[in-house]
Amino acid sequence: MHIYLHIPFCRQKCTYCKFALTPIFTDIQKRRYLSYLQNEIIEWIKTWTNIFPQTIYFWWGTPSILSPKELSSILELFPKEWREEITLEANPEDITEEYIDTLQGIWINRISLGIQTLNSQSLKTIHRSSVDTIYRALDILKKKNFPNINIDLILWLPHVAYWETHRALTELHKSYPITHTSIYLLEDETYPTDWKEATISIDKMQQEYVTINEYLAELWWNHYEVSNWSRPWYESKHNQSYWNHSNYRWFWLAASSYINWKRWTNSPSFSGYYRWERIDEETLTEEQKDIEHLMFSLRTSGTPISKLTQEQISILQSHIQDGYIEKKEGVFSITSSWIFLIDHIISQLI
Ligand code: SF4
Repeated sequence: MHIYLHIPFCRQKCTYCKFALTPIFTDIQKRRYLSYLQNEIIEWIKTWTNIFPQTIYFWWGTPSILSPKELSSILELFPKEWREEITLEANPEDITEEYIDTLQGIWINRISLGIQTLNSQSLKTIHRSSVDTIYRALDILKKKNFPNINIDLILWLPHVAYWETHRALTELHKSYPITHTSIYLLEDETYPTDWKEATISIDKMQQEYVTINEYLAELWWNHYEVSNWSRPWYESKHNQSYWNHSNYRWFWLAASSYINWKRWTNSPSFSGYYRWERIDEETLTEEQKDIEHLMFSLRTSGTPISKLTQEQISILQSHIQDGYIEKKEGVFSITSSWIFLIDHIISQLI
């Protein structure tokens, strides 16, 4: 079982953010939120006898806004025996030596640090921490020997030249004990139109993605999902569970969960949520399972030919000629130069 916990607060909204959250919040709102979240966990645990949470992920918003005491009050609700990986998404400005010491004391063993870029002008435009703050946070994590550090970067941000993300990555990897890197592309629909002038072309972005992928391959990093690379053995267990169709329970408004082939979403309205209402409750059919397997496999290790219909094979074969797809030992996968076409290709297959 894998647990996602939403922490829907941020100090200010990043310009590209598409999440529903409360950037400005009071202590009372935060306390009320935590009490509802805790109630949802307690109520759910009462109904479920075999809960073995192997991974817990504090996600969405800025989880590092919570104090270690608040984080611990949530973690204590889950059984401890099965824990393998507990991740906290953190903003660089929240990292202090005391904070890291206490996190390690409550068994948080993975930090995912939202860096996005090392370009100062871009960081200002997107409302993120400064370069100095990023380096200070990484210095602290290194000094404290934090065991498992992911960094998040974003490609296609304004003012960032096409070689800059690769350079930032090499600098960070040389100086800090980073174990995992996620690199995301901004999606079209979240892209503010006035940034278009200040960003690189798609061709350049494509080149940079390929260069980054080659650089990480030279270090023997494992490219285990289109946006995720890790040192061997440091793949995120939590993320993999999602792509492998394992059971996961996600807490808070509009959160979707998936247990024993059943999927449901919590009510998106506060009044519905407080009455524990669920929407879109369904049991996956064999066909839905196949579609999801296809989507996840193409994003990760590739799709074996045996799992595809004749029509899907023909579509993928046609993309081999375009250079988008390659086939090795009976497995189709997307080529790194065309990775950002993945959603488009998947949409043709389902
Ligand atoms: S930190 Fe994440 S959730 Fe918060 S505003 Fe930025 S992108 Fe959105």
